[in-house]
Order: sequence, then C-alpha cells, then structure tokens
Amino acid sequence: MAKKIGPLDIYNYLPKTNCGECGEKTCMAFASQLIERSVKLEDCSPLIQPNFAVSYRGLKEMLAPSVKEVLVGVENTAVKIGGEEVIFRHELTYFNKTAIALDVHDEMENDELVSRVRYVNDFYFKRIGEELKLDIIAIRSKSNDPDIFAQCVSKVSDETKKPLMICSWDPFVLESGLKVVGHERPLIYAATKDTWKEIGGLALKYNCPVVAFADGDMSELKSVVKALESMGVEDIVLDPGSHVEGQHLSNTFGNFVKSRRAAIWNEDVGYPLLGVPAIVWLNGDGAENTFKEVMIAAIMIDKYADLIILHTPEIWALLPIVTLRQNIYTDPRRPIAVDAGLKRFGNPDENSPVLMTTNFALTYYTVASDIESLGVDCYLLVIDTEGLGVEVSVAGGQLDAFKAVDAIKKSGIEEEVKHRKIIIPGLSSRISGDLEIQSDWEVLVGPVDSSSIGDFIEKKWS
Ligand code: SF4
Repeated sequence: MAKKIGPLDIYNYLPKTNCGECGEKTCMAFASQLIERSVKLEDCSPLIQPNFAVSYRGLKEMLAPSVKEVLVGVENTAVKIGGEEVIFRHELTYFNKTAIALDVHDEMENDELVSRVRYVNDFYFKRIGEELKLDIIAIRSKSNDPDIFAQCVSKVSDETKKPLMICSWDPFVLESGLKVVGHERPLIYAATKDTWKEIGGLALKYNCPVVAFADGDMSELKSVVKALESMGVEDIVLDPGSHVEGQHLSNTFGNFVKSRRAAIWNEDVGYPLLGVPAIVWLNGDGAENTFKEVMIAAIMIDKYADLIILHTPEIWALLPIVTLRQNIYTDPRRPIAVDAGLKRFGNPDENSPVLMTTNFALTYYTVASDIESLGVDCYLLVIDTEGLGVEVSVAGGQLDAFKAVDAIKKSGIEEEVKHRKIIIPGLSSRISGDLEIQSDWEVLVGPVDSSSIGDFIEKKWS
C-alpha cells in the first residue's frame, strides 16, 4: 500500500532543538509542513550540516513521492509533472496538475507554425480566480530529417518561453533538436526497446527528462525503464501507448490505471504517465476527431495522465479540458477561497447598496460576475467562511450573526455609506434576525440565486 508517513516519523529524524531557523516554532510543526509540501527539507539549516547527513538522506528517501516528480523546462517557466502520492484525490490531494501540450510539426508552413506557437503562448482563461493555460509545445519530426527538425525547433524556441517536448523515433533527429534546445531541458520522446541506449545517452548528455515507450506491453515498458535506470537516467516519463478504438482503447486506460496503482503501492516503477489523445488524428481529418480527442483527454486526465499531447486548437474543445483539469486538481483539503473584505463594483457612493457573500471562490465569482453584468454600483462584503459556500457555512457555524457583525465593523463599510441596510444571501436567511439584533443594520434577505440581484435591488432598494 501507499506509504503512510506521519509527522512523528519525520520528527524522529529532525534535530529536535526547536531552534526556529526554519520559520516554524517547533520541529514537530516543521514535520507537519513537510508532509503538506509547504516547506523544503533544506529549510532546516541544521539538518543540512555534515553531522546530520544520515538523517537528511533518510528523510529525503522517506519523503520522495511514490510517483517521481519530473521537471520539464528551466527556471520559472518549468512545468512539474508527477509527484503524486495517492490513487484517489480525497486520500490526500493531487499535487501537480496534468500538463497539456499542443503539438506542432516540422512540415508546417512558417506562418502556421508561428501562429500555432503564439496561440499556445496566449491561451488564457480565468476561472474561479485561477489562470488556466496550456503548458508545453510538443514538436514532432514529420520529415525525419535532422536539419529540417533542427530549424523547426529553433523557430519554436525563438517564439516561446513554454517548455518543449521534442518527438522522433530517430536518435539522430532528436540530437539535432537537442543541439538547439538541450539547455532548455526539453522532454525527449521517446526511448524504445530498440533505442533506449542511444536515447538514454542523449538524456544523460543533455541532462533532459526522457519518455520510455512501449505500445501496450507493460513488461516491455518496464524493461525499457530498467535499462534507462541502469544507465543512470533518473527523470523518466512513461508512455504505455495510446489507442482510440474498441478493446485497444479500453486496454490503454487499463494500463494507465495499472501503472499508477503499481507506483502508489510501491510495487513498480513510479514515474509520471504520458497520454496522447492527439493520436485520433492519425487516421485523417474526420470532423468527429475533435470530439473524440476531447473525450479521450478527459478520461486520461481522470485516469492519472500527468501529461497529455493534444492536436486540436479549437477553443470549444480546450475549455472543457482545462476546466475539468482544474476541478480534479483542486486541493480537497482546502476549498478555493478569495480574500475576505470589502469589494467595490462600479463607482459606489454613500447611498449605494451593500451586499454580503462568503469567500468560497465559486460563490464569490458567481456573485461578482452577476453584479458586473448588471452594471450595479455597489459594495460587496465578503465574509471569511474558511472558503465555504453560504448554505454550508451557515450550517457549519462559519457564517453567523456574530461573524457578520465583526466583518461589518472591520471592513470600514460604516464610513463608506450613510444608510444602514445590508442585503444578505437568501440561503443565509437564518441569521437575519440575530444580525439585526446584534447590529444597527436593517437586514434585507436577498435572492437565493445571485442572478436575481438586479431585480431585487430594483424592487426592494430605495
Ligand atoms: S530549523 Fe530544524 S531544528 Fe530548527 S526548529 Fe526547524 S526543524 Fe527544528
């Protein structure tokens, strides 16, 4: 089974002096933060001294994730893939969201190539306060010509700061690309049972991560991985093969699940998984390909792919994929929250309506977007409910009259408006009586659905 490490297991290896140099008050607190991955081992400066070398190595090994974390790219634009500890998100959390690569190839016309790369650079969609983007550009060698490939890699590299993936079955072609961008730590695709030696050599020479590939054959994939490991290659990504039809499709997903279970249960090679929904385009340009690619991408994201390669740039296809990824990769231990406090919409003045909501991001952005689309000048008092929505926070005690009064006082709204009327969400009607008693504010119970705020203000606000 997956390793279960508690703070005490880690604490036993720490210096136990509670010196505070790591920024935590105690070694035990630091141990808890290590499990959360919110601090690094190296933040404990006594631990990296020579006299603690054994403890440091022991902890390093203990804390290594079941699925190795692999870095593609360099510096602040690098993408981390893998690093996972659990099969099911609710057992802990998933740490690194599935990276999404869009493919280009070396037979594209210059204009098409450049505009596709710029499209990846500029792809941006904001949802619940988070920026959803594409992560990697996968450059395929279609020509199988080292010079043509090198030129294409060079053009792409000139146009983007996104991490790259360079793809060919031919080690000579791959090296021509590595000569251009090897220092940018691209992901090399792919080592097979026939090429592991040459491609493993390239991975070592250029210090780049490499994909191990075997088409549907898990024992062959394991052999390629073992061969790469025996050469000293450490950063490996697994491609068990992607198929899109019938039983082969089912086997593809089966292999993803088997690989992840084996990694988490410490039975086998623990490396990130690569899926290639773009494979649907191999059989031509059928109109249904985009639908199929989206469906396969969705299942792969759901079934542990740490990186997927897509071909379609259609916005209607990419939006559901990045949205699904966002939903799966939110931390179940912490609801997505926004900062509490007083927000202003439009140009509110001393007579403007005052509304109240919670700091659950989904609630906040829904209310904010409804207010913005109505064009109402108003104040919105956002209460810190630990990231919970209205109904749940009223039931759980995170939102009550006492908290609302406290938020009103601290927000400064009493200096902004000369009236004392506040509109609270319909789902928090239970606190309206107490709120009126404990404050000198008149409480109006607003609509349950924030899309009716405009109507409500028009009829009830004077
Ligand atoms: S720096 Fe190390 S020894 Fe000091 S409190 Fe933090 S964990 Fe403990």
